[in-house]
Amino acid sequence: MAEKFKLNIISPERSFYEGDCEFLEFVSTEGELGVYAKHIPLTTILEPCVMKIHSDGEEKKAAILGGFVEILKDKVTVLAENAEWPGDIDVARAHAAKKRAEDRLLAKKEGVDMVRAEAALKRAIARINTVD
Ligand code: ATP
Repeated sequence: MAEKFKLNIISPERSFYEGDCEFLEFVSTEGELGVYAKHIPLTTILEPCVMKIHSDGEEKKAAILGGFVEILKDKVTVLAENAEWPGDIDVARAHAAKKRAEDRLLAKKEGVDMVRAEAALKRAIARINTVD
């Protein structure tokens, strides 16, 4: 079994996860990252994504809706803008948010904040993929 490291995921509302982890997967602004213990120290910005926590032969999925990750040799800290377990997610609401964001992006109407619509789309997709 792979060596373990400490994982701490903190959202503005709560300590979302605190425990051991063997492998952590997420998407940063520079692309997909997979982290084992003894990773090179790194600080990176998170995209809204499905975070996969591998521990004791299990994989836990969580929607992490942006934030920062600090990777140290034996500890990873995630400061999440928002974090949700599959059970927290209203899938119908996420599908509605996805449709709304796609319509806004397609319409390209003046006055529509494209960056905001793109961010909303990424959050909706992360939520949908966390439940899948
Ligand atoms: P929506 O347009 O549906 O509000 P959003 O991506 O704009 O989605 P956020 O700004 O990310 O929403 O979140 C606002 C609050 O609503 C947060 O507390 C978040 O946890 C909650 N929330 C948003 N979407 C969902 C969902 N699909 N299921 C459960 N809670 C959600």
